[in-house]
Amino acid sequence: MRIAVLGLGYVGSVSAAALAAREQDVIGVDTVAAKVDEVNAGRSPVLEPGLESLVRRAVSSGRLTATQDAGHAIRQSEVSLICVGTPSAPNGSLSTIAVERAVSTIGEALRSGTERHTVVVRSTILPGTSEELLIPLLEATSGRRVGRGLGYAVNPEFLREGSSLLDFENPAKTVIGASDPESEEIVGRMYAGSTGTLVGLSVRAAELAKYVDNAFHALKISFANEIGAICHAHELDSHEVMRSFFADTRLNISAAYLKPGFAFGGSCLPKDIRALIYASRRRDLELPLLESILPSNERCISRIVDTITALGRRRVGILGLSFKDNTDDLRESPFVELSERLLGKGYELRIYDPNVAMARLVGTNRAFIDERLPHLSALLAGSAEDVLRSSDVCIVGAGSPETLAALAHSNGHTIVDLVRLPDAETRRGEPGYIGVAW
Ligand code: NAD
Repeated sequence: MRIAVLGLGYVGSVSAAALAAREQDVIGVDTVAAKVDEVNAGRSPVLEPGLESLVRRAVSSGRLTATQDAGHAIRQSEVSLICVGTPSAPNGSLSTIAVERAVSTIGEALRSGTERHTVVVRSTILPGTSEELLIPLLEATSGRRVGRGLGYAVNPEFLREGSSLLDFENPAKTVIGASDPESEEIVGRMYAGSTGTLVGLSVRAAELAKYVDNAFHALKISFANEIGAICHAHELDSHEVMRSFFADTRLNISAAYLKPGFAFGGSCLPKDIRALIYASRRRDLELPLLESILPSNERCISRIVDTITALGRRRVGILGLSFKDNTDDLRESPFVELSERLLGKGYELRIYDPNVAMARLVGTNRAFIDERLPHLSALLAGSAEDVLRSSDVCIVGAGSPETLAALAHSNGHTIVDLVRLPDAETRRGEPGYIGVAW
């Protein structure tokens, strides 16, 4: 493959040298003459372990050259890899000026030719940047249409400075969000032989994927540091405490609890977070991350209240009341909170939860329901069908088989799905269906 790499910073110079080492013909492009000269002299333009010798070998093999003449590099190539910077603008927004310039340069270079060309964006860009800004710009400057001899893909970069070459050789994943199958195939071919999972996404999803990873990495570090501060205040060695944390690869170091959905509740999480924060405050510890958890959870409930308000329909049914499936525990259930808020706003509510219905008859929660939630107790229906019959909007908070069976016969309801129903993917985008996070 002949590849033009635009931008010879950390990402571009690693990609250029590593692709050349895999026997691709790479032309690196940068607007800064010194970076181009460094590469052509067989030296790395950035400091990165192992890169200097890789650049030297790639240049002496003739597989890697560099130029300031972007047009020439692009016309010589099948693929343009955009690796230019996307720094923060002074107001915190993302500056796309360099990517826009790179795209315009590519478009103008392609205007005169007819050969297929694929534009691949490695730079980090926010969702929508391609569809709303870069693809229209590419089409306008090239005079071609994406999908017709012109391919486009977002291929975010997950390398870490300091171990970029190792990460390139052994990636956890390669993410490709392509505008068409041929572009996806071409980008996949560029990384042929790479280990790790190949994740094919839409262009927009690929754009966001990089931010999700970085947000989580930052969250993990801040979480660990706040736990460290708590341990320190208790004269504990945090590394010893975290041995217990790391030992749980089922709930802690895993995909558990990472599927977006509705608020948490129950008798443990809210209580324990409150206690930890209270105890920490008494030790004069500020823990902004941990302190933001309950307000963040509360926002999940507010968003649903706002969704219902915006619908403007007064008869609301709720399927599910306990804090999660397969329990009748109502303590700190977010559905109880949601119901109370809607009730307070004057909605006509009907609620059904098979576990709570049982608990009402025989369970240990009977007294809790009668004493603490008499206002909700009066709204409990005998079946999911009853709820559907007396509502126009149905909030699905439990995925029991009975609920699913009843929903199959819903008629004209707006379904607000908090559990990701089994057919959520096909329902998405349909009128009368609102997914909480999809
Ligand atoms: P960088 O600032 O080190 O390098 C960008 C290079 O692009 C510079 O050499 C600049 O001169 C050049 N450039 C600017 N406009 C150009 C143009 N029109 N044509 C050719 N060259 C041009 O940036 P970086 O750290 O390599 O990051 C590049 C992108 O990758 C950013 O979007 C960044 O967020 C993302 N990213 C970076 C890392 C990282 O570890 N640095 C990791 C993942 C993703």
